[in-house]
Amino acid sequence: MRWEELTGDRFPEAVKEAEGVCLIALSVVERHGHHLPLGTDMYEGRGILTRVAALEPVIEFPDYVFTSIPEARHLAGTISIDGDLMVRLLDNVCREIARNGLKKIVFVNAHGGNNGLLAFYNMLPLYQPRDYVIYLINPFSQAMSGQLEAPWEAGTDGHAGPGETSMMLALRPDLVHMDKIPKDSEYKARERLRALHEVGVQTGIWWYADYPTHYAGEASTATAATGDRWLNQAAEGVARAVRVIKADSVAKQLQDEFFAASQDHS
Ligand SMILES: [Zn+2]
Repeated sequence: MRWEELTGDRFPEAVKEAEGVCLIALSVVERHGHHLPLGTDMYEGRGILTRVAALEPVIEFPDYVFTSIPEARHLAGTISIDGDLMVRLLDNVCREIARNGLKKIVFVNAHGGNNGLLAFYNMLPLYQPRDYVIYLINPFSQAMSGQLEAPWEAGTDGHAGPGETSMMLALRPDLVHMDKIPKDSEYKARERLRALHEVGVQTGIWWYADYPTHYAGEASTATAATGDRWLNQAAEGVARAVRVIKADSVAKQLQDEFFAASQDHS
């Protein structure tokens, strides 16, 4: 049930049918090589949510694109929100979701660059008591979707590579420009900071150092059939997790217990 498609009259009933679970796909608007649209992650996130909703009643939050992408600020079309505002906005959105009766909020991460933000954000609920729980999901993790079969060599996929291209071929083939895939080695990591990486040193400029055009993994082997299978596999994993989340009462109970203890050390 997409939030924006429900009427206000119907909304409270939909909250009950979803057992208070709201899924929010976290994506960004950023360059995806020469051949995929800026909104690739948004379409992928929406595509997964649509498939999950067909398996298990949930409320799907409208497309949310204001997450972490400072590493693409040098590229045309990127929308990069300031770090502090990103955190405040996400907090405000969660409070609004909860105020509308949805006390189980599931972040479905649809952008690899969000891993740092979400690991940090997921700990913030420990600062203040709240009447909702945030559950964090990576739909393409091994635990969630299992082994994803692909016609290309294992380990060669990356950003805007054959995996994402396949999913976009399944979701919006009209927006995929296979003829624009570079014929040279643009998909390979430049490894311009190799000396630092080899001794375990990280910097904020690491992604730019490796993939300045935000294209990783040769995409021409992509197929719509693979994309469709990946999306379905991810959706089945997320639906399975949603069923466990619906049954969960322990996380909220522990959260409350933790707050009570944090206020009273007697
Ligand atoms: Zn992407």
